Amino acid sequence: MRYLSAILDINTVTLLNISSGLAVVLFRHLGLGLLLPLILAGSLGHGLAAVTRIESLHLATGLFFGIFLTLTSALSAWLWQKYYPHCLDTVRALFRFVLVGCLLPAIAMMAIVAIPLYIDEQLVHGRLQFLTIEFTMTYTTSTLLWVSLYTAWQRQGCDWPTLRWQNVAYVAAIMALTLISFSVFPGAIYIELALLIYIAFSGHWRTLLVGLCGLIIVSILRVPFDMGAFAIPDLYDGVLALLIFIFTTVLASISISIQVMEYKNAVAARDSWQRKASLDPLTGTVNRYGLLPELAIEYERSRRARYTYTVAVIDVDNFKQFNDTYGHSAGDRVLQDVAAEITRAVRQTDLVARYGGEEFVIIFRNTDSHDAYYVAERIRQRIATNTSQFDNQSLTYTVSCGLSESCPNDSHPEQVFDRADDHLYTAKSLGRNRVVVAPKEDP
Ligand code: GH3
Ligand code: MG
Ligand code: MG
Repeated sequence: MRYLSAILDINTVTLLNISSGLAVVLFRHLGLGLLLPLILAGSLGHGLAAVTRIESLHLATGLFFGIFLTLTSALSAWLWQKYYPHCLDTVRALFRFVLVGCLLPAIAMMAIVAIPLYIDEQLVHGRLQFLTIEFTMTYTTSTLLWVSLYTAWQRQGCDWPTLRWQNVAYVAAIMALTLISFSVFPGAIYIELALLIYIAFSGHWRTLLVGLCGLIIVSILRVPFDMGAFAIPDLYDGVLALLIFIFTTVLASISISIQVMEYKNAVAARDSWQRKASLDPLTGTVNRYGLLPELAIEYERSRRARYTYTVAVIDVDNFKQFNDTYGHSAGDRVLQDVAAEITRAVRQTDLVARYGGEEFVIIFRNTDSHDAYYVAERIRQRIATNTSQFDNQSLTYTVSCGLSESCPNDSHPEQVFDRADDHLYTAKSLGRNRVVVAPKEDP
């Protein structure tokens, strides 16, 4: 009986702390105007619960406890708002928030509440120390969970359509493993820890939070009947070990999850900037910086296997004169239309780049110069017959093209490009509006 009542007593504190974590988030979201209604609800709720559990406790002590618990939540919310507006964005901020926003207010609250508890003779030998550790851990764990859920909700909203069976299975597995570790097989707690760390590493942020909530709920429901892995002779030591397990599990898995998120965000930002930096803003094709590594990749591929690719250099004819006649904006429209025409004509796997000015490059992957010639010739013909519309004017223009395929003798990636460029100048000197193919080199 003593065992059961002690555990129910512990559960009361745990449950109340779960609601105080919720109060922190409510204060943050709705403002400190909630102070009076929540103090009223907190003092009455805690006062009645504590007095019905512990016979010798005065109602005043219970009410006092409830008032200070609500004030502690308000203090945590205020610290969160003031110093850590995005408290879960970095692991460093998370640990500072745990220390300053959770542990310190909770310890300060225990120091104040100890006085009426002492008067009520609730502080038998060693109990204050146990109560402080128990209170600060459950308060911090609950605040962390609610704050993380709130941050996730604020950032992405409740995106129910993305609910996947895999994630539901993860949460179900966590709850089942908690249940098993408290009944038939205490060792299941290690499998559960490994699963939580796996979920945190794979970046399932919301699944992790729901799973941790599941772990805490199942623990609270099971502890009065069986302590599972924490069933050691001294009840308080057992409960303390359980609290430490939950505390460290929540803290470690949330911080791993934040670290993974930080890493993923950094990689996504880098990739996005890399993509933007290697795109030409006028035509949307790859620019010179994007082209050079692609030439190197094709060169390496052709050296490793029997693989041929062809490079085409296409240049708009007499473009300087065109700009002088129709203006720079009309010239820009032509460049966009030429890029679109080239992109339409080639395969999706080929690469179209604006090398500079009015010069475009195509990498025809896995294609020899014979096949590439037909595509380049089709592009030339279409551009020569099409017109670009600009300011109610129909603009006509032509392009010249030099083509060269890769050769096993090539000693650097730009060699095939240089040959194509040389033959572009041959096309220009032969009168423009034509495609000239570099003769195949003897291997
Ligand atoms: P060729 O037939 O020999 O290629 O003669 P060209 O006049 O086309 O060659 P040149 O290299 O002398 O001139 C290229 C012109 O391209 C000069 C420049 O004004 C124009 N140009 C370069 N970049 C842009 C651009 O982004 N927009 C516009 N509208 N014109 C550009
Ligand atoms: Mg030109
Ligand atoms: Mg040019």
